[in-house]
Amino acid sequence: MNLIQSILTKNPCYTCGRTITPKGLMLHSVGCPQPSAAVFVKNWNSPSYDRACVHAFIDGNTGDVHQTLPWNRRGWHCGAAANNTHIGVEMCEPACIKYTSGANFTCSDLPTAKAVAARTYNSAVELFAMLCKKYNLDPLKDGVILSHKEGCARGIASNHGDPEHLWNQLGTGYTMDGFRKAVKAAMSAATPGDYTSITGTAKATVGQLVAYIKGKNPNVPKSVLDMAFLYLSEGAAEGIRGDVAFAQSCLETGNFAFAGSAVTLDQNNFCGMGVTANGMKGNSFPTAQAGIRAQIQHLKAYANTEPLKGECVDPRFQYVTRGCAEFVEWLGQKENPQGKGWATGAGYGEKILSILKAILSTKAEEEMEEEAVARYNKISEMPSYAQPTIIKMVDGGFIGGAGTKKDENNRPADLDLSIDMIRVFVTNDRAGLYDKKP
Ligand SMILES: [Zn+2]
Repeated sequence: MNLIQSILTKNPCYTCGRTITPKGLMLHSVGCPQPSAAVFVKNWNSPSYDRACVHAFIDGNTGDVHQTLPWNRRGWHCGAAANNTHIGVEMCEPACIKYTSGANFTCSDLPTAKAVAARTYNSAVELFAMLCKKYNLDPLKDGVILSHKEGCARGIASNHGDPEHLWNQLGTGYTMDGFRKAVKAAMSAATPGDYTSITGTAKATVGQLVAYIKGKNPNVPKSVLDMAFLYLSEGAAEGIRGDVAFAQSCLETGNFAFAGSAVTLDQNNFCGMGVTANGMKGNSFPTAQAGIRAQIQHLKAYANTEPLKGECVDPRFQYVTRGCAEFVEWLGQKENPQGKGWATGAGYGEKILSILKAILSTKAEEEMEEEAVARYNKISEMPSYAQPTIIKMVDGGFIGGAGTKKDENNRPADLDLSIDMIRVFVTNDRAGLYDKKP
């Protein structure tokens, strides 16, 4: 489904700003031989067009969906009460039909007309599946998906016969019952393409995370740069997108500057965990790794209903309704179909997504080179997350110093390790490779 933003910003339904909580979706057909959605968009985008407004038009030539109102704006598509509860979507009609009286028409090119009807039907199925997911609607539940004709029969829409009049006279075989079933099937088939799943594999690299945060906060502590990769490794361990978590931390900590933030760097709490009211200090964690792991686990609590793979270190895991926010867009309670979510502020998920987008468009090359040349000789200079691993390796005889220099704990002070090597060692350690002596 190709979704095109064509918001009718001049139409009174848009400018008056009235909103609804969508409880259902109503399917329409335009009732005139005009296959082009763009024509309707042009004509309806005017302050004087106060007769009607819908949420989308589906183009008969391409199947493209032109979204013409925000989904929760109140439209005027059915002349009665359903305007207050239902999103209205118009399918455009073939150019080769000619209305004779009322809803009756003649058709000069049946194969072309049927192709147009099929195109708009298929896009409508995809669009309705996406909207049912977005608003947590069951397409098979009574009254959720209605045609204009069905709305009229229920007394919540004006007296029209669309879109069944078109389907029946063209002999398409389409019915609203079939449509509802197709929407249900499409919902289980795939995730709507325009939503970002929290479950999954990170798309950003460590180099991109580091380059992004350096660009946003030139004074960012080195300890923060060192822990960027933990977001990706901890995320991968639970099947959660670590780059989403990192973007969330950038939002929650003000790019790790902690200015005006409820938490401080030494709390190792980079996601406002436990800050449930203004002035609260929130949870603290013994290490950065533990704090990031708790954040990843908390995101997983929202994202899906799978059990945790690791031991639960998230003190608030049990307070989450599992799986109530599958998408980043749903992390904010205002946008969440169930009114649940991580944060109360409006647009919380969108804010995270705009940071994620900026991270993904950040170039990482220079930063990667700079990191690659850094060498660590003493364990105490290494990132704190890596120190237990390196101590284990030194004490276990896996690695030694280049010479005879010793540190304050009588371990080698000339280990000469790059950050990349250290990362590999930590990863191997987690896989249990250094738990047995050779
Ligand atoms: Zn209608």
